[in-house]
Amino acid sequence: MLADMHTHSFFSPDADRGADIEKMSLRAAELGLGILTVTDHCDLNFRFSESEYAYPDYLLCDRDMFGSLGYALKSIETVTALKERYPVLRCGIELGQLVQAPDTAADLASDPRLDFVIGSLHMNHGKTDFYWIEYNKMDSSKLTALLDAYFEEQLEVCRTADFDVLGHLTYPLRYIVGKYGIPVELTRWEGIIEDIFRALIGRGKGIEINTSGLRQEYGRTFPDLGLVRLYRQLGGEILTLGSDAHRIEDIGSGLQAGAELAKQAGFDYMTVFTGRKPEFVKL
Ligand SMILES: [Zn+2]
Ligand SMILES: [Zn+2]
Repeated sequence: MLADMHTHSFFSPDADRGADIEKMSLRAAELGLGILTVTDHCDLNFRFSESEYAYPDYLLCDRDMFGSLGYALKSIETVTALKERYPVLRCGIELGQLVQAPDTAADLASDPRLDFVIGSLHMNHGKTDFYWIEYNKMDSSKLTALLDAYFEEQLEVCRTADFDVLGHLTYPLRYIVGKYGIPVELTRWEGIIEDIFRALIGRGKGIEINTSGLRQEYGRTFPDLGLVRLYRQLGGEILTLGSDAHRIEDIGSGLQAGAELAKQAGFDYMTVFTGRKPEFVKL
């Protein structure tokens, strides 16, 4: 059985407008997936006005409201209502920048309707999304400083925040390596990555193999085989697989390859979550 533990519906403002949760569920069933977890965005560092807490009209969605709380809550409400009709569905959320708004993060993560919480970092504190940065205009010391800050904030997330798995570790490489073709050697960050893994393991949390990189220029998973193996060697057990699909066609994409990679890294099981409790499924 394969489980896609990381997908986005149209309640994520960067997702395809056609990514309707019912259609996503039907697609998952067609693919034979055992579980489809919808994990819409809520990027916590954005400041929310009162009106953003209201039910948003996704059809007229304002793209500047990326990852707003209103959308996230609507996603949770919709998935929860559909779970009975589509048993494949699980209700998740992808919380971005947890330590940049720790109280809101803790509040959201404690929502009893959630089956699964991904903790992600899409932008360093006070900076723009890694997506928007022009890495070709940065010299190597600036790039190093950016990655220093990235891994340091990830470590703080892993030591303090409430979530189940760390989302797409090494995400900036999607752009630095994949889009801009700038090679990055991770040796400098091996120590802090070990600290990240030890913090996760110590707190009963895990990582995901995010397969989105396999269908993008980067061509590898986030994180890649070397780091998944390191996580395993340090005693890591909780490992989910997620396509990070933002459109229906990408649901389940790369999961088979992700499962093979997990086996190569020394895993016999992958993890799924229901009611925020891990369950181990043979690979
Ligand atoms: Zn993400
Ligand atoms: Zn995502």
